[in-house]
Amino acid sequence: MSQELHPETRTVHHPVAEPTGSTPHGVPIHQGHLFSFADAEELSAAFHDPRGAFFYGRFGNPTVRTLQDAVTGLEGGHAAIAFSSGMAAVNAVLFALLSPGDHVVAQRRLYGGTYATLGDLSSRWGVELTLVSGDDPEELRAALRPTTRVLLLETIANPTTRVSDLPTLIGEVAGRDITTVVDNTFATPLLCRPLDHGADVVLHSATKYLGGHSDVLGGIAVFGSDEPHDRVWHHATELGATADPFAAWLTLRGMQTLALRVERQCATALTLARRLADHPAVATVHYPGLPSHPDHAVARRLLNGRGGGVLAFDLVGGRPAGRAFIESVRLASLSVSLGDVTTLVMHPASTSHRQLDADALAAAGIGEGTVRLSVGVEHPDDLWNDLDQALSKAA
Ligand SMILES: *Cc1c(COP(=O)(O)O)cnc(C)c1O
Repeated sequence: MSQELHPETRTVHHPVAEPTGSTPHGVPIHQGHLFSFADAEELSAAFHDPRGAFFYGRFGNPTVRTLQDAVTGLEGGHAAIAFSSGMAAVNAVLFALLSPGDHVVAQRRLYGGTYATLGDLSSRWGVELTLVSGDDPEELRAALRPTTRVLLLETIANPTTRVSDLPTLIGEVAGRDITTVVDNTFATPLLCRPLDHGADVVLHSATKYLGGHSDVLGGIAVFGSDEPHDRVWHHATELGATADPFAAWLTLRGMQTLALRVERQCATALTLARRLADHPAVATVHYPGLPSHPDHAVARRLLNGRGGGVLAFDLVGGRPAGRAFIESVRLASLSVSLGDVTTLVMHPASTSHRQLDADALAAAGIGEGTVRLSVGVEHPDDLWNDLDQALSKAA
């Protein structure tokens, strides 16, 4: 029949080459959003069980599914949904789980975008919000109401690297109709698996450690059971903030070295934290791997004995020292974000937290001279030499 087709037809109908007798060793990118069926019954069945079928990319795609299954496995979950960004995952989960009149309890030290979403939910969508410190189980218990439906925590908070005692905090809401959502971006599933500690939903900005190379935006929500997965899945497909297959592929590609990167980043972060703590230009180092950190004991229990790849430190010289430092580093890049293979440095008081006045900064644990470092995989001595020369300009 192909002999009889006209060029107009042949330009759109290509014979698709499928491997025979071999299988692709790497994950194939199924970039297409549309899947065709030989059998009308099969297409009809796909509509009846859309969570299991590939027929239209917003509902499912084999490359995206591979990513979802990979992160589900790492987190020890039941199922996952991949999104176009971490914020898409945060919004899909919160909007799916909450209705007007519901109450949320969240820790105060939250990622800025998540904080903004909670602000919108409470000012425009009739959701009630109580913020708690995240260090005090009694304060959390006292904040609970009969209408509380979501508890929102972060395993490791930005930028002071406070670690949430997940088993203790989640224990406070056990037996209630409350879905516990934990943003595990900073910890990665290699340091902590919140589902093992009683969480119901785990969120990641895959843009950070999972991707790891600053070449892709992505988010993922992992569910411990079918009920929250089903609710969020329906909302997520309506929202349409679906992961692109190529973005999913880049994330999977990055994830193949996640364990190597995180191991190296934790070891280097500890080395740098110790050297920074001994430097006269540095007042305090915030790193859970150091015994001086307020959550060192929690981190030992919860993070597999590691402290993560992010640390912060307060310069003796305050705001001018902070600025001088970030403008003097040469190997570390002055960038937001974290979890990259290269070391990133930023000054929260003049960037991510610039809208806060001195009191609000202090409440968030951020000083005028606080610098945050996301440690990459470079040689630790090269990094130290860079930090050391920048510290001399910030003294
Ligand atoms: C970056 C980040 C997000 C948002 O992720 P995007 O991929 O930038 O949308 C959410 N939570 C935490 C903890 C983050 O660091």
